[in-house]
Amino acid sequence: MAQVQRMSRLMVKTLRDDPADAETLSHKLLVRAGYVRRNAAGIWSWLPLGMKVLENVSRVVREEMDAIGAQEVLLPALLPKEPYEATGRWDEYGPELFRLKDRKGAEYLLGPTHEEIFTLLVKDQCTSYKDLPVILYQIQTKYRDEARPRSGILRGREFQMKDSYSFDTTDEGLAESYALHRQAYIRIFDRLGLRHKIVSAVSGAMGGSASEEFLAPAAAGEDTFAYCPSCDYAANTEAVTFPGGEPADASAHGPVEVLDTPDTPTIETLAAFLDVPASATLKNLLVKVDGEIVAVGVPGDREVDLGKLEDHLAPAAVELVTAEDFTGRPDLVRGYVGPQGLEKVRYLADPRIAAGTAWVTGANQEGRHARNVVAGRDFEVDEYLDVVVVEEGDPCPKCSTGLKLDRAIEIGHIFQLGRKYADAMQLDVLGQNGKPVRVTMGSYGVGVSRAVAALAEQTADEQGLCWPAEIAPADVHVVAAGKTAQTELALSVAEQLGEAGLRVLVDDRAGVSPGVKFTDAELIGVPKILVAGRRTAEGVVELKDRRTGEREELPVAEAVARLA
Ligand code: ATP
Ligand code: MG
Ligand code: MG
Ligand code: MG
Repeated sequence: MAQVQRMSRLMVKTLRDDPADAETLSHKLLVRAGYVRRNAAGIWSWLPLGMKVLENVSRVVREEMDAIGAQEVLLPALLPKEPYEATGRWDEYGPELFRLKDRKGAEYLLGPTHEEIFTLLVKDQCTSYKDLPVILYQIQTKYRDEARPRSGILRGREFQMKDSYSFDTTDEGLAESYALHRQAYIRIFDRLGLRHKIVSAVSGAMGGSASEEFLAPAAAGEDTFAYCPSCDYAANTEAVTFPGGEPADASAHGPVEVLDTPDTPTIETLAAFLDVPASATLKNLLVKVDGEIVAVGVPGDREVDLGKLEDHLAPAAVELVTAEDFTGRPDLVRGYVGPQGLEKVRYLADPRIAAGTAWVTGANQEGRHARNVVAGRDFEVDEYLDVVVVEEGDPCPKCSTGLKLDRAIEIGHIFQLGRKYADAMQLDVLGQNGKPVRVTMGSYGVGVSRAVAALAEQTADEQGLCWPAEIAPADVHVVAAGKTAQTELALSVAEQLGEAGLRVLVDDRAGVSPGVKFTDAELIGVPKILVAGRRTAEGVVELKDRRTGEREELPVAEAVARLA
């Protein structure tokens, strides 16, 4: 069936100017070209052109997931609280989780990721080792109340994710399911035309042991990864660990002054120790009592009021760390102390930090959080641990060659979860010997909507979007540059291309100048542009390659044959 879409009947309103709030290229262009429309912070509508691209991404993801034997399902996004309580994530997930109540007061959440619900599904459906291994997936709307939902669809609060989950009875089985996903992801991103890199990652709130991220290098990315030019080492900077500690020049920590006293120190003792008056407020100070942070002062942000420390003092080791010591860069860090200790740390603008080359690691009792710090992005740590700066040239942990750094967008993440969720929800199947076996799991995500923006980031140019063929909303954009004769020719060429199996967008709009049509064609970014213009009478059209800008005049039949 011919797939010809007339622009005169397409709901698309292109804009000449960038939206005022847009910071990234993909945000600007996807809005200007009429692909998406903002409803609220991090909440987006997909318009007809955008929908085509989103569907193309989903199709590629589906085909490759099906190819590894994964089965598609669709679970709800509105979820009961209990399973998430069972795993502890109802609380652990923190403020990113959308929690809500129904009319009876029962609590629910909008799913940010679905490990719990899939675990329950398999517990219900699979009873014997013969039912495993199984891989289930869905392409579904996810909800996360992101602290900074900027960057358009790169970071939505509602977004599309392909999430899959593998269930195996053995560690080898899990390793195999993981390897299948890794291969499928490589094929997905290759087919989408996304340049990507696989890096070691930290598992964060998901838990589990091993995890790797698929990163798409792009300036707009919020992640930074380190890679080695001479071996295969590549890791998110969050996950870089240096054997034997950080490289010497990166661990710029000054002396920590410890006031170790058998008696409860007084404000006067502290003041004398610091050589300041007892009424002093200090900006460059972090105070720990028995390893617990009780106060932090930061230049330009907060001060430690010595007088107010009274309640915290106990016969204890009191550590007094000046801000220079605890940040290494006191001018760059802000933080404050809340009930949990140092709750938030935020880096201020700095070209080096903006390049994502610094991070803070912190950990709660389970030793979980370890975040990369990205300029302007808040994050939580339950306990301040350390500040490490990875710089270009730091030694590769594998071979000591100087590391290189690059910015990237996280487009996929694969986890070997192990038995964390199966333990929490007692997911067992009957083993070969008739005894119950605890199931081991993997979890795997692709940012489907984010991939659209990542592709835009990697492929767009000054004129606009510029889609790879597999993903473009059409194969050919036919432009009628003139009056009736040109429009007739354009429609007839469009029809022929459609008959040949191509997806065609034809700009048959009346009363729109050729100049505007050309600009729109460049902005919309279909890979081939065919123009019925000044040589229409001779039956000659112009064929233009959107990416290279190369153009050629040729008779209609030849142009059709060339494209088909
Ligand atoms: P990020 O570090 O960017 O916040 P994440 O590590 O929290 O992402 P995962 O939990 O690993 O995300 O989810 C799997 C995939 O879902 C990610 O690799 C990413 O491609 C996508 N994704 C995550 N958060 C968002 C979001 N807010 N908007 C769009 N896509 C997202
Ligand atoms: Mg996140
Ligand atoms: Mg991440
Ligand atoms: Mg991730």
